[in-house]
Order: sequence, then C-alpha cells, then structure tokens
Amino acid sequence: MVPTLKAEKIDEAVKVADPQYTLCKMHWSHLVQSIIALSGVGHLYNQAPLLLSYIRAAMRRNVLDSQSCRSGGNLVFHITTPKRTAADASGDDMDPTKTHLTIPKSLPLLVVADGVLLPGSTIRVPVTTVKNINLVRSSLTLGNRLVSTVICVVTKEPDKNGVVNRLHKIGTAGVVVQVTGTNWPRPAYTLLVTGVCRVRLDSIIQEHPYPVAAVTQLTDTPSIQREDDAQVASLLAEFKEAAQKLVDLLDISGPGLSKLKAAVSQVPGQQLADLVAGLVRATLPERLEVLDALDLTSRIKITLPLLLRHIEKLKEVRDAEGNDDSSGKEVVRPMRRRLRGVPPPNIPPLEKDEGDTTELEERIKAANLPPEANKAAMKELSRLKRMPSHVPEYSMLRSYLDLVADLPWTTTAPETCNIARAREHLDADHYGLEKVKRRVLEYLAVRQLRGDLKGPILCFVGPPGVGKTSIAKSIATTLGRPYHRMSLGGVSDQHDIRGHRRTYIGAMPGRVIQALRTVKVKNPVLLLDEIDKLGISGIHGDPGAALLEVLDPAQNFTFTDTYLGLPFDLSQVLFVATANSLSTIPTPLLDRMEVISVPGYTQEEKVMIGQLHLLPKQLQEHGLTPEIFQLSKESIATIIGEYTREAGVRTLERKLGAMCRAVAVQVAEVLSCPEGDSKSEKVETATDFKGKIEERHEAGRDEHNTADQQLELDESDDHSAAKEEKPKMPEISLSRLRQHFTLPIVADQKMIQDVLGPPIFTSGLAGRVSVAGVAVGLAWTPVGGEVMVVEATRTRGDSGLILTGQLGSVMQESAKIALSWVRQHAAVLELEPDFMRDEELHLHFPAGAISKDGPSAGVTILTVLVSLFTDRCVRPDVAMTGEITLNGVVLPVGGVKEKLLAAHRAGLSTVILPAANKKDLADVPDNVLNEVEVVLVNSVGEVLQAAFDDGFPSVGSDTKPLTSKL
Ligand code: ADP
Repeated sequence: MVPTLKAEKIDEAVKVADPQYTLCKMHWSHLVQSIIALSGVGHLYNQAPLLLSYIRAAMRRNVLDSQSCRSGGNLVFHITTPKRTAADASGDDMDPTKTHLTIPKSLPLLVVADGVLLPGSTIRVPVTTVKNINLVRSSLTLGNRLVSTVICVVTKEPDKNGVVNRLHKIGTAGVVVQVTGTNWPRPAYTLLVTGVCRVRLDSIIQEHPYPVAAVTQLTDTPSIQREDDAQVASLLAEFKEAAQKLVDLLDISGPGLSKLKAAVSQVPGQQLADLVAGLVRATLPERLEVLDALDLTSRIKITLPLLLRHIEKLKEVRDAEGNDDSSGKEVVRPMRRRLRGVPPPNIPPLEKDEGDTTELEERIKAANLPPEANKAAMKELSRLKRMPSHVPEYSMLRSYLDLVADLPWTTTAPETCNIARAREHLDADHYGLEKVKRRVLEYLAVRQLRGDLKGPILCFVGPPGVGKTSIAKSIATTLGRPYHRMSLGGVSDQHDIRGHRRTYIGAMPGRVIQALRTVKVKNPVLLLDEIDKLGISGIHGDPGAALLEVLDPAQNFTFTDTYLGLPFDLSQVLFVATANSLSTIPTPLLDRMEVISVPGYTQEEKVMIGQLHLLPKQLQEHGLTPEIFQLSKESIATIIGEYTREAGVRTLERKLGAMCRAVAVQVAEVLSCPEGDSKSEKVETATDFKGKIEERHEAGRDEHNTADQQLELDESDDHSAAKEEKPKMPEISLSRLRQHFTLPIVADQKMIQDVLGPPIFTSGLAGRVSVAGVAVGLAWTPVGGEVMVVEATRTRGDSGLILTGQLGSVMQESAKIALSWVRQHAAVLELEPDFMRDEELHLHFPAGAISKDGPSAGVTILTVLVSLFTDRCVRPDVAMTGEITLNGVVLPVGGVKEKLLAAHRAGLSTVILPAANKKDLADVPDNVLNEVEVVLVNSVGEVLQAAFDDGFPSVGSDTKPLTSKL
C-alpha cells in the first residue's frame, strides 16, 4: 500500500522538496503525467517526499486508485479514470480555467537546440552546454537532492539560413521529474522534463551562470476554450476522431493504451492538440508552430495535418507488413517513451531510410537463422520499421539486429584435419614438448575419427613463455579454422561472458558472442587465455559459472547470451584454455577440462629453441638474414645464463630481438648512405662493427637502456600483427654490406655485453652458503621453479622463534615442527639440553617481498637449524625440498621437475628429494639427471647425512622408509 501520511506532514515534505509548491496545485491531467514519469525507474535523486505528496494530491483528485501498492521497492500505481464527482459532471474539473496553476514570474531557462517541449508531454533532454550544466548544478540540485523543479524549456530557433542563434519567444514551463547523470569524470546529465504550460519570454534578467528570464504565463482565455462554437466543435470532433485512429494504430498495449484512449476522449481540446503533437513525427519548425498557436482553433488547424500525415504513414507501414503485425499486441512500449521523442531539426518528416532496413532484412535472411530465432528477429525488425529513427531505442534495436545479422548462425569453416600434417605443423613450430605434442595429436586424431567436435576442453598449464598460446595457434592452423584469443585475466563480471541485458544503457553482448561475430564462423578455435586469473564471484555474479555454461557440452548447444536473448549453438567451437596454475581455477571448470602441463625448459632446450625458432623469427622480423647475422649456441647460452631467469623463453626472445635491432641499425645505416661514399670508406671488420656499438653504448648508456626496453615492449605488442601480415622484405645487397663488414656478423661475448649491458644475473649462491645457518631450498612458483636461500641466526633475547619473509601459516608451522624435532634430538645432535635458553631464533626467507607458503621447505628449515646450532656449514652445492613430520619422516612434495630444472639452472650438483617423489623423476630430462645427483631420502637423518660434508652419523636413519601415499 502507498504509505499514508498525515496531511500536515505531507505539506511539510512538499514545502521542503518543492518550494514553489506548484505541482500539487496542478490540473489532474498534468499531474498524471508527472506521476507516471516519477514512477519510472532509475531515480538518481531521492524523490520520496515529493512523490508522496503528489500521490496524496492525486488521490485527493481521485486520479490514483487507493489500491496502489509497493512492489519490489518500487511504487506501482494503478491509474484509474477519475471518478467524476458532481463538480466534474458539471465540467468544472475539465475546465482549465479552474486550474490554480501559477508559474513564478521568473524562471531559469533550459535552452535546447533540437527539441520542443509541449505542455502535457515529457521529453528527455541531454545536458551538454556549460550554461545548462550550471543550471542543473546551481538551481536544480543540491548534493543528491532535487531542490527545485520548475524551469522553462526554450528552443534555440534556426533562422532562414538554418543558423541557430536566437531563442524562440515562447517557451514551456516544465517540471523536472528526473535528473540522471554523473559528476565524474566530466559532468553529464540528462533531465526528464514534463511540460506544464506555455510562457512568453519577456526579458532575460540574468545571463550567468545560467540564463533566467522574466516570463508571462500564457493562460488560454475562457472565450476560446469554450468548445461551444459550432465550427470549432466540428473541427474538434474531427480531430478527436483522427486522434482515436492514431491511438488504434500505435504500437502500444496494456495500461498505456487505455490511458491514452481515456486521455483522447476526455482531455480538453487544446491539451489534446498538444498531446497529439507530441506523439506524431514532426520537424522542429512544425512543432514550434504548434507551440506558438495560442488559441484552440489555430492549434487544431496546425496539428490536424500532422496527425493525418502520421496516420497515413503508419497505415502504409502496416499494409507493407501484411499480417505480420497480428502479434503486435506483445510489443509493449511505455507511453512516456513515445511522448519523449522529439525529432532533431532538418529530418524530413516521416522519412526513414527505408533502404537501410531493407538491407538489414536481407542480411538477416541471408544469415539463415534457426526458425525460432528467425521469428524473433523478424518481429524485432518489424518493430524497428515502425519506430521513428530519432528515438533512442531505435539505435539500440538497430545495433541488436546488426549483431543478429552478423553472427555466423550456420557458417562453418571447412575442417582440414590431417594427422600427418598436424604432426608436421607442431614439429615445425615447436622444439621439444614431446609429451604435449603427443597428447595434442591424440586429441586431434580422436576428433578426426569421430567426425564430431565434442570432447574434453584442452587446458595447457605452465609458466609464462613456454609456448601454451603458440600450441593453441598451431592447433587452429592445423585444423584450418580461424583462431581467436579471449583474455580472461581480471574478468570479474559474469556479464562480460554472458552479455548485458538489452535494457541497460551501453549494453553489449558477452565476449563469446563478440568473438563469434569477429571470426564469422561458428566453429573457430577459441583460446581462453589465463583462465586461472578469472575474477572470483562477487557482486557482479560468478564469471566462472558463466564460463561453465559456455564450456559444458551438455548445455552449450543452446547458450543464451543475455544481450542476444536467442540460443546460439556453441557446440562446434573448439575451446582451448591456458593457465599458469591450477590452484586458482574453479573446480567445476577444471572438471570440464583436460589438463596438459607444459613445464619449463632446461638450459639445453632453451638453447635449441633459441637457435632453431626464436633467432630465425627475430631475424625475419628485423629484416635480417642468417647471411648477415649469426649467434652461436654458446652466445645464446650466455644470453640465457646471464640475462634471463625464467622457465619459458619469452625474455630470451626479447633479448635476441635486442641483438637483432642493434645489427639492423648498422646495416640500415650503411645501406642508406649513397653508393659513391661507401667506396671511399674503409672496409670495416666485424670487430670494428662491434666497436661502433660499444661507442654508442658508452655515449648514452642510460638512454640506450630505456630506449631498448621501450622497443622491447613495443615489439612484444606488435608480434602477432607482424607475423600475420608478413611484409615482403626488400632485397639487401650483401656485396655492399661486405664492403663494410665481414659477413656474417657473429656475435661474441663482447658484443653481447655492448648491446645488452652488463650481465643481469650471476649465480646468486656464490659465497652465500659458506656460513653456518644457511641452506638452499627449492620452491615451486607459477612461473617455474626457484632456488631459495634460507638463513637463520640466534641472538640473545626472549622472543623465541622469529620468522620473516612473508610466510604463510603452513610455512610457519613447518618452522615450528623443525624446531621441535631439533629440541627432541638435542642429545643426538650433541647440543646442550638448554641450548635455546635466553636466546631467540630468527629465520629469514629471502625475496622478502613475495609471499610464500607450502610445506616443502620443511627439510630446508630443519637443515638450517641443525647447521646453526651445531655451527657446521651445509654443502654449498646441495639444494633440497621435502615436507617433514614431527617424527622426522620426509613426505613427498609437488613440482619436482620445475625444482630440479631450477637447481640445474643455478649450477647446483646435488638435490635432496623425498624418496616418494622418485616416480616424478621420469619427467625430468636426461641431461639434467646426468648433471644433477638426486639423493632420495625417507627421513631427516638421511637429509642431514647428505647435506653436510661429513654427514651426521650420530643421527642416522632412525625412521622406516615411508610407503608412498600418492
Ligand atoms: P605462453 O602462452 O606459454 O605464455 P607463448 O606461446 O606466447 O607462451 O610463447 C612465447 C614465445 O616463445 C612464442 O614466440 C613462442 O613461439 C615461443 N616458444 C615457446 N616455446 C617454444 C618451443 N618449444 N618451440 C619454439 N618456440 C617456442
């Protein structure tokens, strides 16, 4: 129920909210307009007190049914035809002269360029000019309240030459019923204004910050409002009949229709003319003419031709559509939308670009939509045809239908899957990755044999730069299908996947539908990149759940995007996902995918990839050839060892690019000097060439470095484009180059340093492990394995155990377990029984800014503690990993391959691993196993034996071997 308030309270509220107190005194027909507008959605400003007062005022006039109720937080009104009282029956209420509506003597002006507000209609005015913005800010609103509501809307009039310069003399006093907009980043508002009555602009009494004019209210004189004149009465009857016809033809239904019908039969003549002029299409001058017509006869005489013209046009459209409109009843368009639209100037009346919709219709027909979708699209198309092109809904509907026409409902790319060729493709594009390639081939083979495309979704998991995206691209090339990459990193709104409801401003389809529109076939390879970085579910819904709907073969053949609103068959799309880590992928999503892990590369693999794939690619991208520039295996190995620290090869690729750029500059310089000059120049050798680079480097080391980095970034951005276009390379005259350099230019250590600067990474372990209380652990991170030096010190104090390095709770517990074990075995370790008295222990895990967690540092912490308390150094070439229990049992851990690769990269010769991890060694490349000695251990005793030079005979292996739990 509408809350009832005491009359005084309402009056109080009204005084605060509407100081002019004009609305409550308004004629009921205007009041109904205002209430309808007020009950619209999307109020920025809190109108509750004002609204309540209007409701009460309306109820007093019997306009609102007392059954009005609250629903879902919105007030819902049942608008009824007013119960005619004795006074009404005598025609008193219908007589506008009895309206006690008084307009203030001066009103702020809202100047509009392309619209006319007529009394009784409502228009939406975008506020763009500075003065109009000032008006909204200084006069209408205060904070988030609408403080004043009555303004004068006046149109800027075009002169004979079409130049808009002066204000029209007659304007309309209107009530601002809604202000929407924002103050940030720039102020932008939209006002919803309902016209109340005509006013004449007498003089401008203020220009800044917004114009204010002295106005005279133009009240229609009683003599011409009396509809008793026979001629006027017949004209009015004709007008009412035509208006009734228009209402019948209009595309509205529900309460709006009955209200409009009631208005046509009951509203007094001159207001009906305004109402109708607001409904029909007309140009700006025509509307201004209606506004200028002050007496009933001329107003009707001006409006009637416009009305008849509109009816004619509607009939034509209806005839053209035949019976298609029989279901028109379903189309509900609120009356206020109709009322709102005012066509921009210079639009020829009622002329819409018919060719435009015909072309659209043809495109929709050609798109071969499924029957249901076709029916829905045709219905929307017929709505579009009937809609005036200036209403905001027109462009929204138009973009929607464009999308429907653009989507590949039936277009498929012919599949060219051939396993032999697929193998060739994969081998040509990727070095190593045998397991991954084998799995991809199996997958493709099954697809080829089954002939359909259903099956698990492949998900490549591994550190960055190991070729996950590039394998997905190869799959697309092999299958001959278009490829589209959809980056999911940071997507936290389910609507990004599923699309936004069409009713929202700026609504868009979801990413999947957009991708299909781009690729133009319904069976592309869609790469869901960084699926592990998908935002978690929050106020904007769960994007993971939305993606599930896309991926699940049981549902995705009828995937319904919220924007599109029609089911689209995604079952032929081949989805491939990539991720850095499995832990953040939502479990239901993970369930639908087949995980293929793409681990990091060994040093040797990187050298091979660099030489066979990355260098040729970079040479080509820089317009060079192997005859001009070469990098030996050793040089590539130096770059990998001294300038990169990564599991993949992306940085290596960038560094190779930097080398190529340096050479390209020199080559281009030589080629750009005139031929005659070159002959006189002395012949340079490769060493001279390197010297040149060095000179430059010395001259502006800093600038060079920044520019270098910048170029690297640009280059990585441009990669795909460059690759796709493959520009034809101009021929480089080698003979000319030979006059300057010894070809090919072979990069050596010195040139690498000149171009890339001093080595970035040196073996970080040298010298760090040769003190007691330090040991090397191995950690797994989403970007590959890492070696981690763990340090411990003891000082006087009573804080017990201090841990630093952003450790998670699991790691803190490991530290406590290790300390307990040491305390328990103090005697065996030959420590004093109270070795910790008055002392505190500080354990630190470097890379202190990065948070770490996980149980696998257990053995390292224990070794560090034993080393510290016994004052013995751990072997500097040993790294270790493993979880420990209170009883000293070593439990298996994950990421063994990555950890071993990291130890190998760091030049460590021995790795202590839990014995239960033995099976994981099968994944480790042979050359790593040949160079790194793996010591498999079951107990802490065995760890200590291996970690210290002379072992720890006193501790021994006091635990039984553990049977694997994995
Ligand atoms: P990811 O998607 O795993 O982050 P990309 O697929 O973008 O990595 O690979 C980065 C670059 O490394 C690409 O240029 C790719 O061609 C190259 N690359 C990675 N692995 C290999 C490989 N095994 N053989 C050849 N090139 C590779």
